[in-house]
Amino acid sequence: MIPFNKPHLTGNETLYITEAVESGKISGNGIFTQRCQKFFEQKYGFAKCLLTTSCTDALEMAAMLCNIEPGDEVIIPSYTFVSTALAFVRQGAKVVFADSCGNNPNIDATKIESLITERTKAIVPVHYAGVACDMDSIMAIAEQYNLLVVEDAAQAIDSYYKVRPLGSIGHLAAFSFHETKNIISGEGGMLAINDDRFVRRAEIIWEKGTNRAEFFRGEVNKYGWVDTGSSFLPSEVIAAFLWAQLENLKEIQTKRIEIWNTYYEKLKPLADKGCFKLLDIPDYASNNAHMFYLLCRSLSERTELIKHLKANGILAVFHYLSLHSSEYYKDKHDGRPLPNCDRFADCLVRLPLFYELGKTDINQIVESIKTFFLYENIK
Ligand SMILES: *Cc1c(COP(=O)(O)O)cnc(C)c1O
Repeated sequence: MIPFNKPHLTGNETLYITEAVESGKISGNGIFTQRCQKFFEQKYGFAKCLLTTSCTDALEMAAMLCNIEPGDEVIIPSYTFVSTALAFVRQGAKVVFADSCGNNPNIDATKIESLITERTKAIVPVHYAGVACDMDSIMAIAEQYNLLVVEDAAQAIDSYYKVRPLGSIGHLAAFSFHETKNIISGEGGMLAINDDRFVRRAEIIWEKGTNRAEFFRGEVNKYGWVDTGSSFLPSEVIAAFLWAQLENLKEIQTKRIEIWNTYYEKLKPLADKGCFKLLDIPDYASNNAHMFYLLCRSLSERTELIKHLKANGILAVFHYLSLHSSEYYKDKHDGRPLPNCDRFADCLVRLPLFYELGKTDINQIVESIKTFFLYENIK
């Protein structure tokens, strides 16, 4: 069976973990944590980075930093992972779900303005598949209405909007190092803080509402409880693993992009025949090869394709179910239909994409897709 995902190890993970363990400090905010944070700050120009135990945690920190209070509204695409919305709902927010674009699952920036009320506090664009949202439009709306922008950049490491790294444009941004992402630490994440106003408070929220980080830098001579917060920082064991990945970021990205391009070249002729659609990457967006997906013409066709691939030893998977019609939120949603979102929920299928995926694997997958669309699916 060709799996959908296989976590890639670069080789130095256990070496660095051993180093962390033998250093005698394995709780958070040690040498490896700071090394990882500095790497991101320097490479992508984020004002401040804080590693977290997940992207979900980073989003929760962002919701706290935005001072979301019960009744505040937050505009979020419905086609996203649960955490994007959940982090804000936990703070009491009312989520106002926005539809996706017609040609990709990202939030349709042209529909955001009509969703703004006096209670709106933030917009949370999600860079689906690592492909940038229309950030100039989103930032302009945010500025006009004095809203905060939190980028859900969970899938967007090393990806760009024009010349700007994703995660560096909104006031805050959240990344994921879950084992299904490009760069991994099992579970793991990071909050990027681009607006200086939030830096001090972010560190406090990160460290259980205390000013412990300032204390360890020698900036204050005692530390205590100064704000709300939680334990959001990962142990050094996780940061050590992550460091081994970051040292190989370039190699990992080169390999994933090579796999992505091979898929694209081989599947383009079928897409041109109208069998399915491939990713539509706008001119302003780069491709970080987080994901390769096809868009089938219907839910039933997608179900059949996934079944066909499985019978041929290939695990392809669909993705998000629309959050506005989820069991938890459907009664709270205002009832607006979100047709683009529903279409991606019904028709999108992701193909295996991981570092060890070989040429013969890709050929097998492509051949199997060809057989399905050219011979089996003719009705
Ligand atoms: C993976 C993912 C998350 C959650 O990341 P965790 O690190 O598992 O908490 C959130 N949003 C999006 C868009 C994701 O892809």
